[in-house]
Amino acid sequence: MIYLDHNATTPIAPAVREAMLPYLVEKWGNPSSSYRFGAKLKGVIEVARGQVADLIGASPREIVFTSGATEANNTALHAALRANPARRHIVTSAVEHSSVLSCCRALECDWARVTVLPVDREGLLKLADLENAISDDTALVSLMWANNETGVLFPVERIAELCRARGVLFHCDAVQAVGKLPVDLRRLPVDFLTLSAHKFHGPNGVGALFVRRGAPFTPLIHGGHQERGRRGGTENVALIVGLGVAAELARNRVAEYAAKVRTLRDALEQGILATISDTELNGHPELRLPNTSNITFRGVESEALLLLLDQAGVCASSGSACLADSDEPSHVVRAMKPESAASRQMVRFSLGRDTTILQVDTTVRLVREAVTVLRG
Ligand code: PMP
Repeated sequence: MIYLDHNATTPIAPAVREAMLPYLVEKWGNPSSSYRFGAKLKGVIEVARGQVADLIGASPREIVFTSGATEANNTALHAALRANPARRHIVTSAVEHSSVLSCCRALECDWARVTVLPVDREGLLKLADLENAISDDTALVSLMWANNETGVLFPVERIAELCRARGVLFHCDAVQAVGKLPVDLRRLPVDFLTLSAHKFHGPNGVGALFVRRGAPFTPLIHGGHQERGRRGGTENVALIVGLGVAAELARNRVAEYAAKVRTLRDALEQGILATISDTELNGHPELRLPNTSNITFRGVESEALLLLLDQAGVCASSGSACLADSDEPSHVVRAMKPESAASRQMVRFSLGRDTTILQVDTTVRLVREAVTVLRG
């Protein structure tokens, strides 16, 4: 199998699996218990909190563990809207993940007002649009760091500074950036930031929300005193340990990641664009994650191409795995190129740190063969 869908999920690193196992076997206690067998696990959770904090340049107290990025995104949006009843406006973009866009739609049905900013053909925002959208009742700007479908990077430093200057909270869905790019929240004035373990070789079902000290916060999940009252529910210690170890590995490897993966991604991209006619890159050529390539194959339906690739042993996708079971074309590529069929005729390839040049060369050949069959 050639796995080129790392933006959907990544294999669990062996060291992560090893670290998690004891907490699924003999150390299964409840961290909130008063006896040592359980209570010792509190310390284990705090180690993981420190590892996650170190990865993003935060303080451990600013980390709230969640069931993943979907919950973290929902939590940030709720927290910001609850902060001040006079501020009911959210600004987001047309290319956000469904966990932000669907949450905005649900909040809109209740009582929020939502502005969805457009992007241009390369997937970029106009900062002037953001500036114009912010008004006196804006509670939150929620914009992603790196797009999961195209890899396009939003200028988060400038967005954060703009939000600061206008007195508006800024939430950043950094799921695709963390582990792939250096993230240092000592220098980036975001108020909330989302990450998810399974995008950087940790387990599915665990993530974290960074909540900057002093930022307003109301829990989304009410319950016990876990997470210092910020997220009720008995902690899943094994998953949290896995997130912590994955964070530490990512921190040690982030510097070499870009150089290694970019070379292979560029080889894949050039191989496809140069040898298969009527193909087009979706997304800005440079302002992009080093591992992601989203390519339109004119006249070829995404699903048909993915099926042939799957049969040939190549895993790729036509957008977010969270929406893969719907017939809808990619909302991201549609927002970039609304007039064309590009959103129905594209494939996202996302490479990982273990991808090899042999896999890349084989994929280029298999894609070429599949496209020839489908166009023929
Ligand atoms: N945001 C982005 C940008 C994502 O790529 C994903 C995962 N597809 C999510 C949020 C949701 O993450 P999770 O699976 O942890 O809920």
